[in-house]
Amino acid sequence: MDLKSKRDVFLKMNNAIITCNKCRLCKGRKNAVVGEGNINAKIVFVGEAPGAEEDKQGRPFVGRSGMFLNDLMRKCGFKRTDVWIGNIIKCRPPENRDPMVDEVRACRPYLDRQLDLINPKMVVTLGRFALEYFLPKEKISEVHGRPLRAKSRIIFPLYHPAAALRNEAIRKIMNNDFKAISDVLKKDIKNIPFPKSMEADASSDQLSLF
Ligand code: URA
Repeated sequence: MDLKSKRDVFLKMNNAIITCNKCRLCKGRKNAVVGEGNINAKIVFVGEAPGAEEDKQGRPFVGRSGMFLNDLMRKCGFKRTDVWIGNIIKCRPPENRDPMVDEVRACRPYLDRQLDLINPKMVVTLGRFALEYFLPKEKISEVHGRPLRAKSRIIFPLYHPAAALRNEAIRKIMNNDFKAISDVLKKDIKNIPFPKSMEADASSDQLSLF
């Protein structure tokens, strides 16, 4: 798809998101947060859901967590405009509570379509909800900072920036994990392991090739 057609599809989808009423969260939002950045990016960052500042501005990661994320990106040589940043849930849950299962289900087609269109090599998940979206059987404490393969993408799990702001030990881990991103991006996906929980699926995929 050429860039112009891709932009048009994004514009249509953004419109569907900002007028979406598929779950209860539409009632409390000031703005839906559709996501932003380079729609041809090799890396996509996926967070959980907008907070108060994101809801106010209609943009992802523009509050305190966003400042921390910007800082990590800058230190590692990434620009926000090179990557695409979005969330699993496009509308702010009240009092920043955890997203509910039916809310994730209702919002899922949007992120799935966004990822299909962008087709990044790597998805950096921020926090346990984003990890669970792609690799539901993995635990963030066990897999953070380790690239894993899910279908044709590299999933790179990180802690959530808000957790890093609350906890110095997590902040150090996150700083360290983040530094690996550019090296992982250079790797051939064939050299990225499937998570243990998916090894059976992966080998059945391979068998079906013969
Ligand atoms: N936290 C998230 O998970 N996403 C945002 O956009 C902001 C804070």
